[in-house]
Amino acid sequence: MIIILTNNNDNLRADGRVFNELRPLKIEAGVLEKADGSAYLEIGGNKILAAVYGPRELHVRRIMRPDMAVIRCRYNMAPFSVGERKRPGPDRRSVEISKITADALRPAIFLEKFPRSTIDVFIEILEAEGGTRCAGITAASVALADAGIPMKDLVASCAAGKANGNVILDLSEDEDKEGEADLPIAIMPRSGEISLLQMDGHMTPDEFDKALDLAIEGCKQISEAQKNAIKDRYGEENG
Ligand code: UDP
Repeated sequence: MIIILTNNNDNLRADGRVFNELRPLKIEAGVLEKADGSAYLEIGGNKILAAVYGPRELHVRRIMRPDMAVIRCRYNMAPFSVGERKRPGPDRRSVEISKITADALRPAIFLEKFPRSTIDVFIEILEAEGGTRCAGITAASVALADAGIPMKDLVASCAAGKANGNVILDLSEDEDKEGEADLPIAIMPRSGEISLLQMDGHMTPDEFDKALDLAIEGCKQISEAQKNAIKDRYGEENG
């Protein structure tokens, strides 16, 4: 049986996008003087800073690896980033997102080049409007490249999902909150490898397949913007 997924609302979403359209995206590399690498990203109403320190020697024996670097991530939402002031400091959600961010970035980095070292990634959500984990990974990847850390590829991340019965790309905060499902992914576009896939909510297997295809296409577009951000900073030959 072939299920044809149609869009009910003349292809228009509350913010005017069609089902397979990303929110307006802007990425800038190298925005901070003091970090080894940095990036600023806006997608829709999200405003995100990522900063990287390292690779540098790690003295914490408990987590140090003699054969490779470790990557440590801290995802943090500023108290003023959401409608209702968020209590400062880590919570269960930010600890989880920090972990999955490190997991999503790790396979892209040539960690074995830096034994006994750490690469520290800080993601600050200045303003949040849905999809911050993906936007944070996308920004962090550009900051890693800006820090000169050798990578197989720039990890690109975005979500697809289902809202109002439609399978759609890059859910806004309202679509995420009111919708039926959210499927954030991260990929390395050169190999097609998926380094993050999470899902909450409910979709049929066909809807899942369509959402995954949409998210992969979205990541490919984001990947182009990442490469352009690096090119803008360092010139064509290093992009
Ligand atoms: N959000 C919020 N307060 C919080 C956490 C999240 O207002 O303490 C909002 C924010 O806009 C975020 C959205 O809810 O982007 C969706 O959050 P989720 O946990 O699904 O993660 P995200 O989609 O940002 O990766």
